[in-house]
Amino acid sequence: CGIIGYVGPRDAGPLLLAGLRRLEYRGYDSAGIATLNDGRLVLRKRAGRVRELESLLADDPAPGRCGISHTRWATHGPADDANAHPHLGGDGAVAVVHNGVIENHAALRRELESQGIRFSSQTDTEVIAHLIAAELPSAGDLLEAILRVLPRLEGTYGLAAVCREAPEQVVGARLGSPMVVGIGDEEHFLASDPAAIAAHTSRVSYLQDGEIVRLFPSGFEIRHRDRGPITPR
Ligand code: GLU
Repeated sequence: CGIIGYVGPRDAGPLLLAGLRRLEYRGYDSAGIATLNDGRLVLRKRAGRVRELESLLADDPAPGRCGISHTRWATHGPADDANAHPHLGGDGAVAVVHNGVIENHAALRRELESQGIRFSSQTDTEVIAHLIAAELPSAGDLLEAILRVLPRLEGTYGLAAVCREAPEQVVGARLGSPMVVGIGDEEHFLASDPAAIAAHTSRVSYLQDGEIVRLFPSGFEIRHRDRGPITPR
């Protein structure tokens, strides 16, 4: 339903939480956040209101200057803690949040399960996290791994991902579900709705269908999944 990502000099947790609050008006049933800190992915998620996530974070903060967050509107699997996003792949190597529906999730799940991968949710989204994690070692980089996975997904997605090996990077992709890049001063944002980041920047760049973006503190880079790099705009 709602996505916000951040990379820059600030503490990502409070910033992402404030962004989720601005997306509450869209309706949702669960909320969650993943940050990168000291070479680890920190995951906090919970069914219910953003304020439930906020109290979870008050007891157990998610430190780090890079992260992704989500409010979920369940399509596959009930609204419970396990099905809330982000979803992890590769034993915590990758975290993914997703808006939309992966139509061929059942076939992908069977394939992954036959390779011995264990799922921790009933969502269609979790296949994306495991597929990316499986590509990561040979792809060598998160953007390249996601480029390999996208052609296997049937359906719609706005997605954001982070990985343990790249602590200052957020990658996003769009097909049939809006995503916008927010450009700041030595910081960058990714969101499904510009309302989530309007408090921080009015400089935005909308992703088109088939585009994938990589954000760093100092800049961002857009490619088309089939056509290569996009001229800066
Ligand atoms: N299909 C995903 C799920 O059920 C994402 C739903 C959404 O867009 O929030 O978890």
